[in-house]
Amino acid sequence: MNLKDHIRHVPDFPKPGILFYDISTLLAHAAAWAEAMRQVKEAVAPLKPDLLVGIESRGFLVAAPLALSLGIGFVMVRKKNKLPGAVVSHSYDLEYGSDTIEIQEGAVAKGQRVVILDDLLATGGTMTAAVDLCRKVGAEVVGTNYLIELSFLNGRQRLADKGVGVHSLMVYD
Ligand code: IMP
Repeated sequence: MNLKDHIRHVPDFPKPGILFYDISTLLAHAAAWAEAMRQVKEAVAPLKPDLLVGIESRGFLVAAPLALSLGIGFVMVRKKNKLPGAVVSHSYDLEYGSDTIEIQEGAVAKGQRVVILDDLLATGGTMTAAVDLCRKVGAEVVGTNYLIELSFLNGRQRLADKGVGVHSLMVYD
């Protein structure tokens, strides 16, 4: 089965000139989604994580079922002001302006091994920020995982510069 057959390409979304890789069609196809999750599990299990961290929002779709399947916990990284209670924040620069992500205080214990998951790796800006946030709360980031990698945007190198590994199921050059 070629998983790429289940990714829809949507031109000019969310802005003119952007080609959006849409995983909705993969999620809606039971056999393809099962195969994708099987492959993610095969890549993540050997890293022996204590916890999985998912990045809002499509990262949740991969991280939550995988955590259940591995028998470990799942923790959310969300945009500012979405998580209740005490949180730890991290702000990072975007092309124009900046953004802030948060994790709940106490969600990760110091020294816990975490793998961070998202649907897609582009420039690596989002994942780099999530790595910084997880490190801020004392996690050991043992890897990152994506369904899709846009290799021409060099996110993999950006993560390597941080000392973090990248695994993706579908690479677009
Ligand atoms: P980066 O920070 O440049 O690596 O962008 C990755 C983030 O943007 C991820 O959280 C993705 O969910 C989102 N993203 C960027 N481009 C796409 C796309 O084509 N399809 C789905 N998500 C995308």
